[in-house]
Amino acid sequence: MKEDAIILGIEGTAWNLSAALVDERKIISEYEKPYLPKEGGIHPRDAAQSHASNIKEVISKTIRKAEIDLDEIKGVAFSIGPGMGPCLRTVATASRALSLLLKVPLLGVNHCVAHIEFGRWLTGAKNPLVLYVSGANSQVIAYRDKKYRIYGETLDIGVGNAIDKFSRFFGLKHPGGPKVEELAKRGKEYVRLPYVVKGMDFSFSGLVTAATSKSKENSLEDLSFSFQENAFSMLTEVTERALSYARRDELLLVGGVGANLRLREMLETVCEEREVKFFVPDRRYVGDNGAMIAYTGLLMLKNGMATPIERSSVKPNFRPDEAEIPWF
Ligand code: AMP
Ligand code: MG
Repeated sequence: MKEDAIILGIEGTAWNLSAALVDERKIISEYEKPYLPKEGGIHPRDAAQSHASNIKEVISKTIRKAEIDLDEIKGVAFSIGPGMGPCLRTVATASRALSLLLKVPLLGVNHCVAHIEFGRWLTGAKNPLVLYVSGANSQVIAYRDKKYRIYGETLDIGVGNAIDKFSRFFGLKHPGGPKVEELAKRGKEYVRLPYVVKGMDFSFSGLVTAATSKSKENSLEDLSFSFQENAFSMLTEVTERALSYARRDELLLVGGVGANLRLREMLETVCEEREVKFFVPDRRYVGDNGAMIAYTGLLMLKNGMATPIERSSVKPNFRPDEAEIPWF
């Protein structure tokens, strides 16, 4: 394989349909068409329909912007899971067709692993403990012996989904994360809410139920503030213990909720106290994007890990600890 091989990556596990071309050194081009629900949360069938309508434009604009010849593309990478079945299948179908058309290997990427590898690539973190916090996922992860191991995780919903559900109850439009972050800044009084850490795991659905049930007697600002304080403290507590247990001196924050400045502040405090280096990608790269899929696809290609079409069925429940990681 040539040093400067270019990979096309396509992400579309949930809300963001996004494609990118990367080589070993840089992101060459990217283009995205996020799905934004008109009301309510992400409906898997609607999101998949939106991806199906936009995927041609997203791929062709990504390639056109790069000003490269098609034969420079040496692989087609896509999110094979975890994610919403209908969304995954839409992207997988387009990716298989492209791989056949371009006569290049297909690369089925684990979406969580892609967040981590891309985060390491962008920030220079070497062997970090990872806090991965997105809509559907919340996990504390570190590499050991050929795999990413999960040290702690949510017992029910991801912290992003919890925030989105909470905000939806108050009529705020999806995604709720950035809106709740703003409201929380204006919170004045802490409202007592559940704090659920069990061993190394955490749970968020009781927090949503409790916070929404107190909507009559408390302001939305106070509830947003208290919700964030509890949810992020739970994540920070488990992360701190995992840093000690896994003996890491680096922490990497990835996933859409990683954009939140209050969460970053809590983690930074822990890192300062423990002399741990804190890494977080630029805000626009913490959430789902095509470049992370393209970059991880490149790692797979270099390690002979192409995905034969007959074994490219999507894996809606693909866990990061099920993926082989030979490149670490
Ligand atoms: P991802 O699936 O990794 O793209 O992450 C999407 C999730 O991140 C959604 O649940 C958003 O509400 C959440 N999110 C985005 N920005 C923020 C923010 N500033 N604070 C908290 N959550 C956020
Ligand atoms: Mg994600």
